[in-house]
Parts: sequence; C-alpha cells; structure tokens
Amino acid sequence: MTDALDRLDLLGLDADLSDDNRLLRDTVRKFADDRLRPNIRDWYEAGTLPARELARDFGELGVLGMHLSGYGCQGSTAAQYGLVCAEVEAVDSGLRSLISVQGSLAMYAIYAYGSEEQKQRWLPHMAAGEAIGCFGLTEADSGSDPGSMRTRAVRDGSDWVLNGSKMWITNGSVADIAVVWARTDDGIRGFLVEPGTPGFDVADVHHKLSLRASVTSSLHFNEVRLPADAQLPEAAGLRAPLGCLSEARFGIVCGVTGAARDALAATLDYAGTRTQFGRPIAGFQLTQRKLAELAVSLNQAELTARRLAELKDAGRLTSQQVSFGKFANVRAALEICREARSILGGSGITTEYPVLRHALNLETVYTYEGTHEVHTLVLGQALTGIDAFR
Ligand code: FAD
Repeated sequence: MTDALDRLDLLGLDADLSDDNRLLRDTVRKFADDRLRPNIRDWYEAGTLPARELARDFGELGVLGMHLSGYGCQGSTAAQYGLVCAEVEAVDSGLRSLISVQGSLAMYAIYAYGSEEQKQRWLPHMAAGEAIGCFGLTEADSGSDPGSMRTRAVRDGSDWVLNGSKMWITNGSVADIAVVWARTDDGIRGFLVEPGTPGFDVADVHHKLSLRASVTSSLHFNEVRLPADAQLPEAAGLRAPLGCLSEARFGIVCGVTGAARDALAATLDYAGTRTQFGRPIAGFQLTQRKLAELAVSLNQAELTARRLAELKDAGRLTSQQVSFGKFANVRAALEICREARSILGGSGITTEYPVLRHALNLETVYTYEGTHEVHTLVLGQALTGIDAFR
C-alpha cells in the first residue's frame, strides 16, 4: 500500500511536509492502522461504533479540538488539523465525523460563543475525550434551510423552556453535552443541554446504508427547563451555527482526500495483481485511463485542501472558499470511489475492499454540512451577485 501511496503522489506533495507535520501524519497513520483499520469492517457491518472508547483514544492522541488554543487543546495549525482529518477519513468518514463534530462543531461552538465558565467546564474534558459533544441544528423539516427551524426556547423567569426536535445528529445518543440551536424571541440562540435533563430524549437512526460506523440520532425536547447559564452568551443569530459549520467543512475538504486516496491505493494494488486475458488488468488502456483520471483528480483535491489550509492559517479563508473546497473535493472523492469500484469488478461490492464503503460514506458527506447543491448556490452567488436560494 505504501508503494501505491507513493505512486499516487503525482505532484510530489508529500515531500513538502515539514518534519513536524510529517511526524504528526505518521503518528496518526500508525494509530489508524493499528487501532482503527483492523476493526472498521466489523463496526461498519454491525452499524455500531465504540464511540466512548474511541473518543478517549482520540483524546490521548491529542486530535480533539486540536486547532483550538488553551483549555487542554493543542493550538495546532489548520494544515495539521487537515492532515489528521485525511488520515482518519482514510479509514472511514464516520470516524472523521466523530472528530469533526466533537472538535469543530460542539467544542468550537463553546469555544467561540461560550462563557468562560462553560469553556472551563467542558472544553478540557472534551479535548481529553472524557466528554462527547453533539451539535443539533438540522430538523426533520428544516435541513438546507436551517433558518426555518421550529425548535423554540422561551424565557420563563431566568430559565429557558425548550420544545422541539432535531434530526440526523451525529454523536447524539453518546453525547454528554448537546449544543442545541433554537428559535427565541431574539432570533436563533445556542444552548447546552445535558442528557438526563427531564423532557430530553434521544433515539438512534437505524438502517443506514451510509456512515454506518457513526452514531446518528434524533433529539427530542419536551418542556425541557434550562437554567439561564445553559445559553451560549455570544451566539446571536444563524451566523453562530454557520460559523461552526465553516470550521467543520474545512475538515471535510481535507478529510475526503484521505478516503479517496485510500480507495485509489487499494484499487491500484488490485489492478496490478488481478489478471484477465492473460495480463494484469492494470495493463489495459481503459483501466489506465481510469487510473490516470482518478489520480489527477485526487492530486487536484489535495492541492485544494492544501491551499485552503494555507488561507486558514493566514487568517484569510472565506466561507465562499470553504464552499469551493467542499463542492470540489467531496464531488471529486465520491467520483473517484465510484469509478475505482468499477476497476475491482465484483470484488468491489463487498467490504473486503474499502472502496464501496468509502463511496457510500461519501454520499452522506455530499449531503451534510451544506448539500452539494447549497454550495453550488454559494459559488453561483459569489460569481453573479444573485441569490438563487429562494
Ligand atoms: P433537504 O434540505 O431537504 O434537501 C433535499 C435536496 O434538495 C438536496 O439535494 C438539496 O440540495 C436540495 N435543495 C434544498 N434546497 C435547495 C435550493 N434552495 N436549491 C436547490 N436545491 C435545494 N445535522 C446537524 O445539525 N448535526 C449533525 O451532527 C448532523 N449529522 C448528520 C449525519 C448524517 C449521517 C446525515 C445524513 C446528516 C447529518 N446532518 C446533521 C444533517 C445534514 O446537515 C442535512 O441532512 C443536510 O443539511 C440536508 O438537509 P436535508 O437532509 O433535510 O435535505
């Protein structure tokens, strides 16, 4: 596989890694190979994930909220966070989702919009993986248009009373703290809701064909009474959750290159050893054309990820550029995995090879954190100045 990875690095991007970043990349790759890769087929097929154990492992590795500073976080660069996302997603998008939701959605919401007490209380535990967070924005009737949410928080004295429900929430049933977005008389606000609070119930989504190695839940709030200090004081309006999503989308832009690389490396190996008509299928021009197209597309996606990391580290990354990355890289990764699957023939449809599993996972990644179409419209608006959302 290492040989295949080297051959896929057509632009020589690996050689540009600094010593520190190479060490980080190799450390996470080894962890992924030792701890994650041997188990991923079983987790995926069973549709379960030992999320608590894994969160602690990821915490020990120092990757949860690694791009945040203080409160037990590493203060890593965007480039380093991107490398970690790619190495973990090379095993499975569900595992990267665990990290993304924890660090970029739940922890970032508390980090950016929380009170000092909320940060002190939650962030060190979340960085260590002792506490898991989830992020509840989407509702059954409010997906691409989160401004239409119906979950509502109403003041009652100094308390808040929360009613409504959230759908498709990653880490929902394993979360120790839920960041929940709700409509109030003052617009959309964020709240921290702990499991066990009366009226708060969680149910898992079953029968998924995608992101099976990930916990997905619905959250239900029936007259849930929250103290005043459950509110995130600095979160005002839809801009607050969208700020968190921008953070998480950056991780996706980098992460999906790992899934695509892993699928393509497995395919390259397979094509070199599978013989038909008396020669390896890698020797057929039609196969070589596919491999060339896919490898070029992979390198372009990696370049895009690297450019966005540079911009983020320079403090210049715009949300439109994040949309560019999500639009381009998820589409590329999905197309790479789908086409790579065809090279594996019948062998490509089982979990013996990671290729179709990656493709199926990427169907979710194509849809969550802003659908492909939503990012198309963001780019369309940037180009034309015309809002085509409604
Ligand atoms: P819809 O918004 O109903 O979209 C359906 C289709 O219509 C899509 O193709 C969409 O692009 C298209 N469409 C909608 N509006 C327009 C338009 N204006 N123009 C053109 N096309 C349009 N959410 C969270 O809050 N937290 C999580 O942790 C989380 N995790 C998830 C995990 C999984 C496995 C999945 C599947 C989803 C998760 N989501 C989460 C929800 C996810 O973000 C939503 O599914 C996504 O925003 C799309 O919403 P929807 O599914 O309601 O689709």
